[in-house]
Amino acid sequence: MQDTKLAIVIPCFNEAQMLPISLQKLWVVLQKLIDEKHISSESFVFLVDDGSVDATWDVIKKAHEESGFKIKAVRFSRNFGNQPAIIAGLENAYNLGADAAITIDADLQQDENKIVEFIQAYDEGYDIVCGIRKNRTDGFFKKACANMFYRVINFLGVNIKPNHSEFRLVSRRTLEILSKYKETNLFIRGLFYDLGLKTKDIYFEVKEREVGKSKFSFLSLLALAARGIVSFSVRPLRLVFFLGFGISFVSVLLAIACIVRLIFHLNYLPGLELFETWETFAAGAQILCIGIIGEYIGQILMEVKGRPRYITDEELK
Ligand code: UDP
Ligand code: MG
Repeated sequence: MQDTKLAIVIPCFNEAQMLPISLQKLWVVLQKLIDEKHISSESFVFLVDDGSVDATWDVIKKAHEESGFKIKAVRFSRNFGNQPAIIAGLENAYNLGADAAITIDADLQQDENKIVEFIQAYDEGYDIVCGIRKNRTDGFFKKACANMFYRVINFLGVNIKPNHSEFRLVSRRTLEILSKYKETNLFIRGLFYDLGLKTKDIYFEVKEREVGKSKFSFLSLLALAARGIVSFSVRPLRLVFFLGFGISFVSVLLAIACIVRLIFHLNYLPGLELFETWETFAAGAQILCIGIIGEYIGQILMEVKGRPRYITDEELK
């Protein structure tokens, strides 16, 4: 609607080469929406420089001046990660009075032309519009890991669509609810399907990154996946219990077998030679369970400390 003040939130980490191209493309989409009176002329782009070490902040400053201040930004004191950068952008959008905010990556791998459909859905009364990838441009290994992650997290009871991305529209009402989520360990995409708000999925084609390469290492994706699971499900802890129960049960059977062997002076009992393998399995299972519990304890520790999710150095508003 004509009076919808839209904020487009973009996390940026070392995107000096990519940003000018992306901002230009976004500008075309935004201007068309303003001209056709789908959104207010007060709409803006909000960039979060997540501690870039290249010229990203200079690019942002220049864009801010040239845009007549329709491009606003904050700069983190160091690299806090993509999730805190997105949250910072959404918090700022809320504080700047946005009626709706759309998050999108700086490389525009998500199809920026879908923003029009997002706005249409918002006008129809949807509070959340989730961008779901139709395809993935990642290599075989990353794709396989992503598929496995979504299977595991769904199996653990977390309500999240496979191939959900950080391309999403949220209404002001959703932003207000999000402002009450104070967790340090963020896995933003897990939050939305459980809020009970009117939610629509829109599918989009993923494009290849035009300049530069992915800012995520395999390890950082693994950490994000672990954080996502621990943040939204306690089922792994229950699985630890059932695994422990199963191992104890088999151990009792083995103990009975040993006693039978002793009583009847049997030299050979079929299957008993598997005992050593069983011992290594049980030892491995214990370490695995300690690891699972450790992940939860680590996350509790971080949450209890309640440290700030990010620290900002500079603002352009
Ligand atoms: N990003 C960020 N902080 C980081 C890593 C990435 O703000 O520590 C931003 C990055 O600039 C981009 C978005 O997060 O706007 C997604 O990153 P990228 O395109 O590298 O991820 P991929 O496409 O591989 O998922
Ligand atoms: Mg990308």
